[in-house]
Formats: sequence, C-alpha cells, structure tokens
Amino acid sequence: MTLQRACTPSEARDVVRAWQREGLRVGFVPTMGALHEGHLSLLRASAAECDRTVISIYVNPTQFAPTEDLAKYPRRLDADCRAAAEAGADLCFCPSDAVMYPDGFATYVVQEGLTGVLEGASRPTHFRGVLTIVCKLLHGVPADRAYFGQKDFQQTVVVRRMVRDLGMPVEVRVMPTVREPDGLAMSSRNAYLNAEERVQALCLSTALKEAQRLYAEGRTDADALREAMRRTIAEAPLARPDYVEIVDRETLEPLQTVTGRAVAVLAVKVGETRLIDNAPFGEGED
Ligand code: AMP
Repeated sequence: MTLQRACTPSEARDVVRAWQREGLRVGFVPTMGALHEGHLSLLRASAAECDRTVISIYVNPTQFAPTEDLAKYPRRLDADCRAAAEAGADLCFCPSDAVMYPDGFATYVVQEGLTGVLEGASRPTHFRGVLTIVCKLLHGVPADRAYFGQKDFQQTVVVRRMVRDLGMPVEVRVMPTVREPDGLAMSSRNAYLNAEERVQALCLSTALKEAQRLYAEGRTDADALREAMRRTIAEAPLARPDYVEIVDRETLEPLQTVTGRAVAVLAVKVGETRLIDNAPFGEGED
C-alpha cells in the first residue's frame, strides 16, 4: 500500500476515523523524523499489532530550549516517508509549525512531579512541549494504540501518566531500545558525533551493562551501582555526565536498594552532544 500524507489534524482525522468505521484497529508512532531502526521497529510493531499504522513526522519546537539544537535537528521528509512506508506505515501526518502552533497559541499540557526530575531538571520546559504535542497529535490521529520507545524512558512514564490522568482513549505501548551492534542506543542525535566522540559514546551503554552485571551478581546497593556507572563514564575523557541515577520505574524516585522495579537512567554529554540511555533491572530488561 502506498503512503498517504496528511498536513492538518482534520485531514489525518478523516482518514483515521474512516478506517475505524470499517472496524480497523489503528496504531500511531509519533516521531521527529530522521528515521533510524529504532523508529522503524516501532512502525513494524504497530504494523504487526494493528490493521493500519500512522506515523507523524514533526520537529516540535516547544520541546527544545532556546539553547538546544532545534535549527540543526536533521530533517529529511522524503527519505523518511519511503522508509516509513517500507516499515508498514499507511499514513504520514506531517503538519507545519503554523498548523500546530497558530498565532496566539497559549495552551499547554503541564504535569507536576514526574516532569521536574532527571530530564526535566536539566530541561525544564521539555516535557511541557512533549506532552502538549503528544496531546495535539492524538487529536489529529485518534489511534487505538500509540507506540513509544523505551529509549526515552521518562517520556514513556510521563506520557502514560497524562493518558491516565486525562482519560485519553488510547493504549500506550512501549517497545525495547534498538541499539547499534556495539551497544550504543540508536538516536537521531548520534549523527552529531565525530569519530572519537562516537567511540567514547559507548560509555553510556557500557556503564549500564556494568550496573546490570553487578545486580546479576547479587549487588543491590544502589549507591555502589551508581558509583560503578560513574567510574565507567569517567574513563571516557570527552564524556561529562549530567545525571547517573537508579530510580523507581513508576515514581522516578531515587532508590537505595535495587529491585525489579528499578531502572538505571543516565544523560551524558559527549563533546557537545547530549545523549540519554537507560536499562531496567529484572523483568522487562531490553
Ligand atoms: P524521536 O524522533 O526522537 O522523537 O523518537 C520518536 C520515537 O522513537 C520515541 O518514542 C522514541 O522513544 C523512539 N525511539 C528513538 N530511538 C529509539 C531506539 N533506539 N529504540 C527504540 N525506540 C526509539
């Protein structure tokens, strides 16, 4: 099937509603484009579980701080549409800024608590932008299921909470992180890394593996595991950790003892590029 395109929420909604009237189940994968295997794995999961799959490609300005990489974020819509179609997408929703943020735009989705820690502590307006755009995209694409990557762990937690708190009629599905063969989590931002930074960026996944190894050996003292991760990152001279934490997978509160509810999360600047990664302990490991 060829990929249809919709540029406004009402165009996308007409297509989705028509499918649903036929009794078809619709899956939705929101993205900012520059598609890689991580995004494509979400599309394939949706195509396997649903009758129709919608992708949105929209670089959302409100989730970037003024100092961040909005202007240089990679944009390649035509290549993305070809890759999305091959991975099973039926409709691409690619709105403009003017459509998503019309003049005088003044209403945002703000969540308390969960959005003030980890990514939210470093990027105070980030989740306000994420939740606002996810909510708006879901109005244009009223899908039965929405697919998100474990790669952006805190995003999955805050999106699930929004869906629950606001009673949004969509099932959130979270799929495992797709990695390069050496372990680096795939990210559109990996393209910013030069050769030396690319090598040193491995410290993120290596640190997470070290924490998992210690846990598998029976170590449950979270401070010891945090320290082991910090030591691993310190071996990469171009890497500067922002946070290195072990938190509860629902409350995001730092833990003293590692259990099957824990997730190791980290954000590290490698050169000028800020990378994030995470690894759940116990059940649900990817
Ligand atoms: P983005 O385009 O970065 O906003 O990401 C769109 C979706 O793809 C989000 O749900 C991300 O969590 C997910 N994603 C990004 N990288 C990966 C990855 N390496 N593996 C799985 N999902 C990913």
